[in-house]
Amino acid sequence: MYQAPRGTQDILPEDIPYYLHVEEAARKFAALYGYQEVRTPTFEDSGLFRKGTGETTDIVEKEMYSFIDKGNSDLTLRPEATPSVMRAYLQHGLHNQPQPVRLFELLGCFRYDRPQAGRWREFHQFDVEAIGEDDPLVDAELITLFWRFCEALGLGELSLELNSIGDPLCRPLYLEALRTHYSPHLEQLCRDCRRRLATNPLRLLDCKIPTCQPIADTAPAFTDHLCDACSAHFAHLQASLKAEGIVPSVNRRLVRGLDYYTRTVFEMYPPKVGQQAALGGGGRYDGLAELLGGRHTPAVGFASGIERLVLNLKEQGVEVPASSPTVAYIAHVGESAEALAVASNFVRQLHARGISAIRAVGQRSLRARLRHADAAGVHWTVLIGDQEVSAGTVSLRDMAQREPVGVPAAQAIDLIVAAAREHSDDR
Ligand code: AMP
Repeated sequence: MYQAPRGTQDILPEDIPYYLHVEEAARKFAALYGYQEVRTPTFEDSGLFRKGTGETTDIVEKEMYSFIDKGNSDLTLRPEATPSVMRAYLQHGLHNQPQPVRLFELLGCFRYDRPQAGRWREFHQFDVEAIGEDDPLVDAELITLFWRFCEALGLGELSLELNSIGDPLCRPLYLEALRTHYSPHLEQLCRDCRRRLATNPLRLLDCKIPTCQPIADTAPAFTDHLCDACSAHFAHLQASLKAEGIVPSVNRRLVRGLDYYTRTVFEMYPPKVGQQAALGGGGRYDGLAELLGGRHTPAVGFASGIERLVLNLKEQGVEVPASSPTVAYIAHVGESAEALAVASNFVRQLHARGISAIRAVGQRSLRARLRHADAAGVHWTVLIGDQEVSAGTVSLRDMAQREPVGVPAAQAIDLIVAAAREHSDDR
C-alpha cells in the first residue's frame, strides 16, 4: 500500500478546525492591518531562489526540490515566499502604487529537510510582506501584526527575539571583526562553521553544534558595530515596539538563515523553546530587489509556519471552533420508503434553504441508520419506514432526544429549517 511521502502529511477532517482557525485569523489580521492577498506560483525558475534566497543558505545548498521539466526549464517547488512575492512586485510594476505595497500569502512550501516534530518537507506558511519603504515604523507594524495574530489565536507567553544585522556599509567591518574573533579557534569549529567562515561568516552565530557554542557566545555583537543609520533604525524600531507594549529580547546571535536580510531580523517563540520551536520569523531585505535585477526597493516581511502554529495550539490546549456537522440525515428503511424519500426531494428542499443534508444509501436496518446518524453527529434524522409510508408522515428525530415525532413531510422540513436558524443565531 502506498503511504504519503516522507515528510508530508494528510490533514484529516478532525484536524481541519485548527487549520481553519489559523487561516481565518491570518486573513483577519492581514485585512485589519491593510495587507492584500496575493497568490504566486507553486514553482518558479530555480534561479530566483539561488539568487534571492542565496547560494550559501541551507535551503539552496541542500533543501530545494528542483527539476527539469519537459521543456528543459530548470524549476523549483518554492521553499519560501519572499523571492516570489518580490518577483511579482517587480514583474507587475507595483512600485507605481502607493508604497509600501502590503501583501500577504497563504502558501505551501517544500524543503528537503530531515522530518521531525514540527518540521515537514511540505508545509504551509502565512507570509506577510511590506515592500517599498525603509521606515522602521513598517518593521514595527509587521512585528505587531505577527504578535497580535498569535495572541488572537490563543497562544500565550510569546517571546520575540530581535537583532540588527546591518547594511552593506557596516556589515563588511563587522564580518572582519567576526573573522578575527573566530580565526584563533578554527580547530574547535565544526566542518560547516569552518567552511562558512569564508563563505558566510554570519551563519556561524546560529550554529547549533555544542563545541561551537562557547566561541559563538563570546563573538562580538553586531549591535555594537552598526553604522549610524542602522543604529538609529534599530533604536527607532525598539521604541515603536515599546509603544505597542511589545518588549523584544535582543539576541545577538540571531541572524536567520537567509542571505537577503539587512538590518532588522526577528523570530517569535512560544513558551516551550526547542530547536524547532520558532512560530515564525522575518526581517528586512532592502537588497533583494536589486539582487533580482530590479531597482533598489527596501522591504520587510515575516513568515509563520501554519503546522507549527497548530502544534502549539494543541500543546497549549487551545480550543478552536468546531466545524459544523451536517444538519440533517434522511434515512429510509425499505424500498417503498426509499421511493418516497427520493420522490419527495427532502434533500433538495433542505439544500435550497441552505441546510446541509445527506441521504442514506444502500439497504440497512433502522438501527444501522441511527448508528450512522449518531456517528456523523447530525442534528436531525428524518426516518421513513413502511409505517410512515402508509401514514403519509415521517418520523423526525432530534438526535439530542430519544423519541422521534411523527409529522407531515413538509412540516419536518420547516421544523429543521427553523431549528437550524435558531441554532445559528445562538452562535
Ligand atoms: P524560515 O523561512 O525558515 O524562517 O521559516 C519561517 C517559519 O516557517 C518557521 O519559523 C517555521 O514556523 C516554519 N517552517 C520553516 N520550515 C519548516 C518546515 N520544514 N516544516 C514546518 N514548518 C517550517
